[in-house]
Amino acid sequence: MDCIFCKIAHKEIPSHVIYEDDDAIGILDIHPRTPGHTLVLPKFHAASIDDVPPEKMGDLFGAVKSVVILLKEKLSPDGFSIGINHGEAAGQEVPHLHIHIMPRWRDDGGGCIQSIAEYKKESVEEIKKKIIS
Ligand code: 5GP
Ligand code: ZN
Repeated sequence: MDCIFCKIAHKEIPSHVIYEDDDAIGILDIHPRTPGHTLVLPKFHAASIDDVPPEKMGDLFGAVKSVVILLKEKLSPDGFSIGINHGEAAGQEVPHLHIHIMPRWRDDGGGCIQSIAEYKKESVEEIKKKIIS
């Protein structure tokens, strides 16, 4: 399969690796939005969370936690934005699941995760009915 992140995960393409365990790798984003902007990717191919076996999800987020601890210790940020562009509609460009970890500083001028979309349609009650019915 011609997947750039599979090739990175298997060291066929070079990257700046800052974290690695049995199932995941943490690399510096090639176009960082903040200093230390890291991507955590599973070493196995999964386009999205849908393709990750449930028993592997915990380990994947364990890797996220390890990267957060590392960046906190080394870069002393004031906080983090952590998120996934999950699917093309959400801005996913590389179709291999990756979790963005962006160290944040109080004066970095960035917004919060909720600022990526605005929503004025159904009420919360209407949506809840759809979800739990
Ligand atoms: P997304 O798919 O969530 O929109 O973002 C893909 C991210 O991967 C982007 O932030 C982009 O800069 C990064 N990226 C794309 N290609 C490479 C690459 O070859 N190496 C690294 N380290 N990052 C990449
Ligand atoms: Zn892949």
